[in-house]
Amino acid sequence: MTGLSPQQLIDLTYIVAAVLFILSLKWLSSPVTARHGVLAGEIGAALAVGATLFNPELVQYRWIVIALIIGAGIGVPLGMVHMTAVPQRTALSHAFGALSATMIGIAEYYVRAPQVTKFGMVEIGLEVIIGSLTFTGSLIAAGKLQEILPQRPITYRGQNIVSLSVLGTAVVLALILVIHPAYMKLFPAMVGVALFFGVLLVTPIGGADMPTVISLLNSYAGLSAALLGFVLNSKVLVVAGALDGSSGFILSVIMCKAMNRSFTNVLFGAFGQEQVAAAGHVEARPVHSATADEAAAILAAANKVVIVPGYGMAVAQAQHKVRELYDALAKRGIDVKFGIHPVAGRMPGHMNVLLAEADIPYDKLLDMDVVNGEFPQTDVALVIGANDVTNPAARNETGSPIYGMPILDVDKARTVMVIKRSMSPGFAGIDNPLYYLDRTLMLFGDAKAFVGDIVRELGGTHQ
Ligand code: NDP
Repeated sequence: MTGLSPQQLIDLTYIVAAVLFILSLKWLSSPVTARHGVLAGEIGAALAVGATLFNPELVQYRWIVIALIIGAGIGVPLGMVHMTAVPQRTALSHAFGALSATMIGIAEYYVRAPQVTKFGMVEIGLEVIIGSLTFTGSLIAAGKLQEILPQRPITYRGQNIVSLSVLGTAVVLALILVIHPAYMKLFPAMVGVALFFGVLLVTPIGGADMPTVISLLNSYAGLSAALLGFVLNSKVLVVAGALDGSSGFILSVIMCKAMNRSFTNVLFGAFGQEQVAAAGHVEARPVHSATADEAAAILAAANKVVIVPGYGMAVAQAQHKVRELYDALAKRGIDVKFGIHPVAGRMPGHMNVLLAEADIPYDKLLDMDVVNGEFPQTDVALVIGANDVTNPAARNETGSPIYGMPILDVDKARTVMVIKRSMSPGFAGIDNPLYYLDRTLMLFGDAKAFVGDIVRELGGTHQ
């Protein structure tokens, strides 16, 4: 590498990092290449951070080392949470990302003010407002998902007007600062109002919409990082932030489609209000139940089985037992596939990750659109710890809070078997008419234990 100045080397490293980020996103979109995607993202981030440390403007490393130690001290345990807690962990990551972007924006303001240019103030103002609202919004989202805060939407009359007025106030304060840079006292007020708006933004949104909100907050965090890239004149930050922002936005759109919701409906609809009422009166209606040996006999007699996993499989960590069941049925020549709903579990791709961990072949995992065409020819739909994503009320009951959400049509199979521990509702807190159908058999028990019992009855491997 002759003839390159240190700055050119840094810029070259940034370009390599940006290419790795793009490849990472591309590879992450398929389970086959996802591991490469994670690695590419990690190397890209390490290169970007490493190159920044060689920036000639850096005069001393003491505070950077202290920050790295504190950051690693928080990040390592955060990365080790249980898979079911990943949504709230992700929300916390967005909160930290947004907090750091906000704090750098604030520092940059005070370094420049009151000599900040009009254009510079627009950049800083937008960046700090979006970063601040993302910080508090993400904290509220994490609190709701961790159930430290109530999951239900908290709403009141005129709430949208109040929220929009608060956002409007932050924007007006930023505009005044653009026009009158000397009014420096308005800057902390603008930050405070934007932080408050983040709370108002997420508090009225129900728990069932949290996944969409989290990917939207991801998108905001990326947007704020990209704006910070403009403020600091850092091209790699612009690229990384833009990728983060746009991919988060695309994921939100995909999730809205999976739930048949519009953005405005998610942000202003207070989805889930009725759920609390519906969960209040649980009716005792008769259901048919079966034992593990009966379930095994029905499965053994089938030609085609579709397994539908959900959150309960994740909680029970039943994926390895499910793999044994898959092997036992496949050995008998039975056609076994998996029906994957985009929002099954508690994070996008949750079921894919768990089934990949258990080495279930990828080509057996069918997306909702594909597998729904197969249910009418399916002998047994075996639902393992899934509830909302199979609820036919989404199709038929106009008053239901999940009405319009596309579901897996398990009720079209000849026999439906549902493994869950009780008649308790799922995440949306509503009853599931699927359980009362004549062709539905309830298999009451923990998913891991029950699937293990079925495997034993089928003569497969067991502990
Ligand atoms: P649900 O939450 O609807 O239902 C899960 C079911 O699993 C419960 O009814 C529960 O019944 C059962 N269960 C819990 N523990 C066990 C266990 N140990 N063994 C057996 N069963 C168990 O899950 P779905 O996957 O069907 O739906 C996901 C829901 O979560 C949707 O409403 C979605 O909108 C929402 N959501 C999705 C996110 C995502 O990104 N994927 C993120 C956040 C929310 P019982 O207690 O009787 O056992």
